[in-house]
Amino acid sequence: MDKPLRVVIVGGGTSGWMTAAALTGTLKPNICRVRLIESDEIGIVGVGEATLPQMREYNEAIGIIEPEMMARTNGTFKLAIQFRDWGFKGSEYYHPFGKHGQPLGGIGFHHHWLRARQAGRAYDLEDFSYAVVASRRQKFEFPVSDLKAINSTYSYAYHFDASLYAKYLRGFSEQRGAVRTEGRVVDVTLDPLSGDVASVTMDSGEVITGDLFIDCSGFRALLIGKALNSPFESWNKWLPCDRAWAVPCDRSPDFTPYTRSTAREAGWQWRIPLQHRTGNGYVFSSGFIEEDKARETLMANLDGAAQQDPRLLRFEAGRRTASWTRNCVAIGLASGFLEPLESTSIYLVQAAVMALLRFFPRQKIDPVLVAEFNRRVDNEYDRIRDFLILHYHLNTRDDAEIWRYCRNMSVPDSLAEKIEMFRHRGHLPAYKDGLFSPASWLSVLHGQGLVPRGYERLADNLEFDDLVHRMDELHGKIDARVDAMPSHDAFIRDYCPSPEAVPLERAGAVA
Ligand SMILES: Cc1cc2nc3c(=O)[nH]c(=O)nc-3n(C[C@H](O)[C@H](O)[C@H](O)COP(=O)(O)OP(=O)(O)OC[C@H]3O[C@@H](n4cnc5c(N)ncnc54)[C@H](O)[C@@H]3O)c2cc1C
Repeated sequence: MDKPLRVVIVGGGTSGWMTAAALTGTLKPNICRVRLIESDEIGIVGVGEATLPQMREYNEAIGIIEPEMMARTNGTFKLAIQFRDWGFKGSEYYHPFGKHGQPLGGIGFHHHWLRARQAGRAYDLEDFSYAVVASRRQKFEFPVSDLKAINSTYSYAYHFDASLYAKYLRGFSEQRGAVRTEGRVVDVTLDPLSGDVASVTMDSGEVITGDLFIDCSGFRALLIGKALNSPFESWNKWLPCDRAWAVPCDRSPDFTPYTRSTAREAGWQWRIPLQHRTGNGYVFSSGFIEEDKARETLMANLDGAAQQDPRLLRFEAGRRTASWTRNCVAIGLASGFLEPLESTSIYLVQAAVMALLRFFPRQKIDPVLVAEFNRRVDNEYDRIRDFLILHYHLNTRDDAEIWRYCRNMSVPDSLAEKIEMFRHRGHLPAYKDGLFSPASWLSVLHGQGLVPRGYERLADNLEFDDLVHRMDELHGKIDARVDAMPSHDAFIRDYCPSPEAVPLERAGAVA
């Protein structure tokens, strides 16, 4: 029998505690022992407040109870991201968690929609997305599991207070045996023979040894970067945003079951409604706007009174070329960063944690498993990178330099091919695992204003009158079902009210 692996996690932000909760929630103490080091003095980033539906799988896998977690983190539901002014100023579209319509005759619904459009029937594609229609009307309820029903064609995620989520996971992990050490790591010692991490030294003088080290130290990347020198590949030329101002404001009556992203003159602004306040931030490129000007823009565009001074965060888009190096696995911001436009960072933490569980080592670390872990993590990062670039590249805005730069920049070949395939006849990329689904690509390609020249010939198999009839019927069904849903606010009050919630009737009263 192997001895339990001594796992040392450096960092107690979202990634540190998500890793600790997954290890202690799924592996027995005879497989691993978890010790987590964090420094209250340094603190955490804690502004990651929007998630993806995949997070529910993580929560379920480790046994988190949804309404309890939501109430404790002031959580709300998220059906989509709304993009304002992205394709051009005045434009608006949604990237919903769900499909547009249902496949007909074995091919994607959008091919039929394209055919109808070319024949002069200008249906709005978004009217066929259950999640978009519900978002527009600020409604929410859980999707049903009967795959034939139209209200099974969407999914949902959460908005929450990320600091409270980390706190919640801390309680969860400690109950399951994780041991927390408060203090600052001041030194990392490598084994002179193997080059592995042998120990970390605390400011108290304590030396902590382990078998496997998880670097969750955030942008500092204490182990993977500073000690092991794992190279960082920068993607700044494609994703030029490198700063964000973040500030919470009072809750407003506009209680959207979606994240709002509004394009601005040097980046974009997020808006995330919680039960007790609204989170806001301006993600911008310091190459295109001064920090002070960006701060002013954010403060002038809040829909409630600011609750504190805005906080500046600095970052660079890119990733480590080997997140797992020797006996150290970097998870979270230590492994890389992609701006929060599609709320992917917490998903990347989850993907890395789940891969770590699958490839969890014995005492001797197997390089084959390490290579497979790194391949998967790289794949996730690279695909998300392309999807993010798409939003910036496909724009027709001419009012600010950043938009001209992004439109004219050359993009990775992997993305250029996808754009061409869609332009040609509506073809969408499809992956077996990971982000993003064909439905997501459709939302953004279409939303940013790219209209395919053709559609799949199979769509012509359907009689046109029959097609029109089916589309009208589907439209009517979605319209009626969504009407019968409870409001987002009513659903939350019933399912997961937080003791700190500000009632919607009082929201915005002072502002
Ligand atoms: C502007 C912005 C907006 C974001 N929005 C979203 C979003 O909407 N959705 C999403 O999914 N993600 C978002 N993210 C990302 C998300 O915030 C992070 O992925 C998440 O918080 C994970 O951070 P982390 O735990 O890796 O690092 P951190 O939160 O920085 O935690 C690092 C930890 O390491 C500890 N530490 C560091 N140095 C030492 C030391 N020397 N000794 C001891 N401890 C140390 C710190 O105390 C802390 O506990 C956003 C990020 C930014 C910058």
